[in-house]
Amino acid sequence: MGFSKGRVFLFRIPEGKEFLSAVVEFAKKHNVVIGTISAIGTLKNPKIGYFEEEKKQYKVIELKGIYELVSALGNISIKDDEPFAHVHVSLGDKEGKMFGGHLIEGEVFVAEVYIEELLGEPLIRKPQENGLALWDVEE
Ligand code: ZN
Repeated sequence: MGFSKGRVFLFRIPEGKEFLSAVVEFAKKHNVVIGTISAIGTLKNPKIGYFEEEKKQYKVIELKGIYELVSALGNISIKDDEPFAHVHVSLGDKEGKMFGGHLIEGEVFVAEVYIEELLGEPLIRKPQENGLALWDVEE
């Protein structure tokens, strides 16, 4: 769907905050309803998900310790009448090995976040039969 570019933000999330809730808090504070997110930094004890299609739910992978947030990519849209952040992450361990998936939660040690606001008709996530909450597709 077509959007125009709104404001752009570059900021740091304070240590100790949970990454996704801090992004949502920021979006609410600045009235960002739709946007894209990217970030780098370091996360503690991140939990990532792998969606198991047959079970219609996420398998939760709990990583222990400190991981480089090599990259986070995602978007902001509306779910349950509120801004919602959908973020995927690449996480590196001390040997440089990578883990990746759908971010469920992660405590911030450092997070430098870039948000680009998009202006237009809001995208709304709706529960689907496959267990996910998705936007309508353009027919
Ligand atoms: Zn996902």
